[in-house]
Amino acid sequence: MLFMDFSRCCERLEGTSGRLDMIDIIAAELPGLTGEELPVFVRFIMGRIFADWSSRKLGIGPNLLYEAAGAVAGISKEKVIEKINSTGDVGQAVEELLSVKSQMTFFHEELDLVHVYTSLIEIAEMEGKKSQREKLLAVRRLLGNAHPLEGRYLARILLEELRIGVGEGSVREAVAKAFGVDSALVEHAQQALNDMGEVARLAKVGPDALRDVQITPFHPVRMMLAQQGSIADMIAEHGEIAAEFKYDGSRFQFHKKGNWARLYSRRLEDVTGALPDVIRQLLDATDHDVILDGEVIAIKDGKPMPFQSVLRRFRRRHDVAEAQEAIAMVPNVFDILWLDGETLIDLPLSERRRRLEAVVTQYVAPQVTSGDPAIITQTYEDALAAGHEGIMIKVPASPYSPGQRGKNWIKIKPEVDTLDLAVIGAEWGEGKRAHVFGSFLVACQDAGRLVPLSRVATGFSDEQLAEVYELLKETVLKTSGKEVTFEPSLVFEVGYAELQASSNYEGGFALRFPRFIRLRDDKDISDIETIGSIRERYKRQANSAQAYQH
Ligand code: AMP
Repeated sequence: MLFMDFSRCCERLEGTSGRLDMIDIIAAELPGLTGEELPVFVRFIMGRIFADWSSRKLGIGPNLLYEAAGAVAGISKEKVIEKINSTGDVGQAVEELLSVKSQMTFFHEELDLVHVYTSLIEIAEMEGKKSQREKLLAVRRLLGNAHPLEGRYLARILLEELRIGVGEGSVREAVAKAFGVDSALVEHAQQALNDMGEVARLAKVGPDALRDVQITPFHPVRMMLAQQGSIADMIAEHGEIAAEFKYDGSRFQFHKKGNWARLYSRRLEDVTGALPDVIRQLLDATDHDVILDGEVIAIKDGKPMPFQSVLRRFRRRHDVAEAQEAIAMVPNVFDILWLDGETLIDLPLSERRRRLEAVVTQYVAPQVTSGDPAIITQTYEDALAAGHEGIMIKVPASPYSPGQRGKNWIKIKPEVDTLDLAVIGAEWGEGKRAHVFGSFLVACQDAGRLVPLSRVATGFSDEQLAEVYELLKETVLKTSGKEVTFEPSLVFEVGYAELQASSNYEGGFALRFPRFIRLRDDKDISDIETIGSIRERYKRQANSAQAYQH
């Protein structure tokens, strides 16, 4: 497939608003693609480049792209940024710049979809001192051969944000339709493989190929997530339930085959290098080939440490040995997804638990199963008394559902007034904080869109501001006066005194006394609070205020 044909398809999708129409457009393209093209097309159309399980990163920031686009169009990077500010979109800006350029040059090497993909792999693999320069040249080469329309989508793919409104759900339906397979089968295969590209390839082979999928060690699967709920409701619905402590640390997935082991974070990044102590402990705990799910906590003098110290260890690239001595990291394993070649996610939790206890000799998180509310409530009290966050209640008959925030895992913890929000902008600080960002604009999500909710300027130590600055500086999209806008990448946990209805912000709410609590760089932008859940909180707040007045 020519990259031009792919771009035309993107253009058509961008001009289509109905979900069913979009599914039809995608489904019509899929059967004609070769086995090599199919996975690339499927990932690209969702604005992704590599398989979701892959830790591979392109390693280019927006600035490098602007510089490359400037070089191709014969203008400065600053002029490119001006253009982006005036069009409001990187893709459109690059398209316009290339259309001016292409009136001057006559020669284009035609871009091919798979060839673009292999170039991106090469870019991702460039490492070391000179790599930024090499990456810049490679991006220039690609853009230099692109027609204006191709430039529009290439630029957006390079930033992994295609903005044509195609989500995983639509692609799942399109794959099912194109190859005449059940969409539940497609979804199930995606849960095990964590790569829609590969799933599409198997769908082309047939339903049996989808049915036979197994989890592959060292291809991390998405983590199963939890909802809020109550002990009473869970017992009423399920009778006997399983309760575990809710550890306030960082999620991990441990993969081991023979002597080879890797550790992945909640965002499926490979964090093996930062946590050799955890790897060692888990290797000592089992002789089997396994994929384990759990939470690492930091312990000092027998007590769990604040979660921030765990996250810092997850990010650590230097002085790992020194960091190991200061605080003990302890894994708590609560699930097993794969054992000696067998995929276990479809088995009930009770059976997975039996296997877990049979093959892992240490660090298995204790579990209490009971249908008696008093016993579960006691476990909750014990968890809080031991310094943990609360408990997790799980349905013993439930499968492991990767990536899903369903009703089979319920978290019970004291109600606290904090929200996880995306950082979308900032203002430079003043005085001694003039070299870092001082106040931040944070947003919640509304059907995939980010909606500003508040500014947060208090609660930061100087050290935290410096840390946040380091994490955000590469993501600046535009600057105007003291204001900067970010490519959203970072999540803050923000505390507040009260939710207020407000017309100052688009979402209709504002936070009273917002303050920074902690960085949640274990969370993705897709994990932040939704406007729906904020509305719910607002209602609950109003109800409890009323109860108080009467
Ligand atoms: P939350 O981040 O508040 O949505 O809570 C869900 C998170 O709690 C999971 O992603 C895990 O990181 C963490 N967690 C701690 N203990 C457990 C446990 N026993 N079972 C499952 N998740 C746990």
